[in-house]
Amino acid sequence: MKIMVGFFTTESNANIPVKTDITGYTIAFGDECVRKCLVDDVLAEEGVEAIPAIYANAGAACVVKRNAFDYIESCFAETAREHKNEIDGVWLHLHGASEVEGLGSGDHHILKTVREILGPYVPIVVVCDPHGNLCKEYVENVQICRSYRESPHTDSMESKKLTMRMLIDLCRNRQNIHAVYRKLPLILGGEQSVSADEPVKSINKFMDEMEKDPRILSASWHVGYIRHDCDVAGCGIVVSPATAEDQQYAEEKADELAEYVWNKRHEFHYTGTTAQPDEALKMTLEFEGGPCVITDSGDNATSGAKSWNTYVLRQVLAVKDLKKSFLFAAINDPKTVEQLLPLKDGEKAHVSLGVDRDEMSRAVELDVTVKKHGQLVIANGFGATDDVTVTGDTVLVNVDGTDIDVIVQNNHNSYIYESCFRYAGVNWEDYDVTVVKQGYIFPLLKEKAAFYVMSLTDGPTLQDTAHLPFRRIMRPMFPIDNI
Ligand SMILES: [Zn+2]
Repeated sequence: MKIMVGFFTTESNANIPVKTDITGYTIAFGDECVRKCLVDDVLAEEGVEAIPAIYANAGAACVVKRNAFDYIESCFAETAREHKNEIDGVWLHLHGASEVEGLGSGDHHILKTVREILGPYVPIVVVCDPHGNLCKEYVENVQICRSYRESPHTDSMESKKLTMRMLIDLCRNRQNIHAVYRKLPLILGGEQSVSADEPVKSINKFMDEMEKDPRILSASWHVGYIRHDCDVAGCGIVVSPATAEDQQYAEEKADELAEYVWNKRHEFHYTGTTAQPDEALKMTLEFEGGPCVITDSGDNATSGAKSWNTYVLRQVLAVKDLKKSFLFAAINDPKTVEQLLPLKDGEKAHVSLGVDRDEMSRAVELDVTVKKHGQLVIANGFGATDDVTVTGDTVLVNVDGTDIDVIVQNNHNSYIYESCFRYAGVNWEDYDVTVVKQGYIFPLLKEKAAFYVMSLTDGPTLQDTAHLPFRRIMRPMFPIDNI
């Protein structure tokens, strides 16, 4: 058996004034592509041969430049065309939240292209992030479309392997089935849909029960993605039947799940403590004990922001008689990194820290001392893995005369893994307060923080969902409209 394998991830935040080009992608082909998709072990166990297309991962990024997308899509198309007569099934990891200039969803375009080349009957399974946008045509074009359950996505690795097993089973026991879709008139931010919290916890339980039914292969709820304006934005439900006889049953179960989620629409809320920026800082300063964490939610690099806002740093610098030590992890400012890189540890410099793109990223004049040079990394897969990709440089500096340290870096990134801190040469637990570029706090920090707060800062990942400037989405839509 031969299975085509491909991966495309881009979360397109249109509020960022730059576009993602091909250099914004981690790209892999051949065996490395399959390995990075984290399905190599399942294929080996099952004695299935992979036909790798491309692994293209920009993570949380911006609107994609057309030529970059065209190249990536051509790798999917050429693989499908070249191996058309030997492909038994297709496994695609399509995140679901991309926006390509002049084209709309890149994920939707890739699937359409692959389906057109291979015809209507070759089994295609899509595994995706729940923070992607779907539509009826897209979902009905695949046999199974399943998203991760957990947010943060601690089950992403497991979901990839699970969907690959489902596809292999389907190839061995072919069924004329397709996934069923229901769109919900509901739009949510990722920060309101943390799975350790209600109502997501109950929704996940409901879907787990549904999947125990032998007539149902998979059930998913898709949160959707709200950082670019498009007609496919919003929540969706996907259910896949086990056999052709169960197709109608899957329709009924999709209605059931849609109704279950819809009835919980008033229950979605921010998880943990949330406060306006001044209040968030005040609460943190007044908290006795540590370590504390502030998440700068308007500059959330896990959702596409550039991690270059200096707003919270300026807030802290303005505090008179600061009693706590602070670590900023991190501020993205390539020109300052270039200035600091040649300096040795202990050397002093005057820097203008900040990219100065707008009010939130306004540069701050600072005298600093270099403490440590390091590397900026993203971990491949989830958790405390040592499998990392280096995406830039870091320089840890101390702001002279203060207890404030800042990791300055020359690329965007959020410190969600232990390896991020380790490669930057810093232990966040040594500080009273760590400020990170996240919305909801990630497990690594949450577990050890004595106190954490999401600061409702302004920026490209603004949290106020009801006031996002959507024009192209379906209306009415809750909570923009009171339905
Ligand atoms: Zn996500």
